Amino acid sequence: MNPVNHRIVLLGPPASGKGTQADRLADCFLIPHVSTGALLRSECSRGTPLGQEADGWTSKGLLVPDELAVRIVTAWMKENGPRFIFDGFPRTVGQAEYLDSSLAELRAGLDLIVLLELPDELIRRRILERISCLKCGATFSMSLHGNQEGSPCPRCGALLVRRNDDTEAALDQRLEVYRDLTLPVVGYYEKTSPNLLHRIDAGEGSDEIFARLSALVVDQKDEG
Ligand code: AMP
Repeated sequence: MNPVNHRIVLLGPPASGKGTQADRLADCFLIPHVSTGALLRSECSRGTPLGQEADGWTSKGLLVPDELAVRIVTAWMKENGPRFIFDGFPRTVGQAEYLDSSLAELRAGLDLIVLLELPDELIRRRILERISCLKCGATFSMSLHGNQEGSPCPRCGALLVRRNDDTEAALDQRLEVYRDLTLPVVGYYEKTSPNLLHRIDAGEGSDEIFARLSALVVDQKDEG
């Protein structure tokens, strides 16, 4: 059997499907899915000091400071160990450097980095159609799946909501932040780990994307 990659980073703009694909991979390969956005939203909804600090940034579509993002990831790794599918981390070059150095301390390294690429026009359409479950993290398209704000999540039964940053105003900001701060992370990995970095067209169907990702996770290079 081919080896399975255990330390995976999914990069991509908002609504590129990182969360959905990370969930599917987590179920299939039993690797924990870690969304820093979901961890921050959970802190916010519980009203913790960290959540209150984060809310000032997240509600405007801005990134929380690196120190805060790193704090939440460090706490997660301490509790769960270095096996993960990161969705939404690292989002700056500083965070990528932090991740490399904390894995180096554990004599480990990343196994796989995948960039899900999607044009702005599709991002906009998906975000403005998106409805989310803040409990289990599932997302749905209002027009495709027929779910509305306040209807029960088909997966866990909690109420579906529009995220407070899934708005026209916050979206422009999030796209700018992605271009200015997160795309340079791709450049960082192109330099430091070119063999680990793969690109997938996130405009394809969810099943096609999952098949490509799964092939990469089990180390079957997909050149298609
Ligand atoms: P997401 O659910 O990944 O779209 O993240 C939602 C929001 O949480 C982002 O717009 C940021 O405000 C914040 N966030 C999530 N991950 C990070 C991170 N790695 N660094 C800084 N801010 C983050």
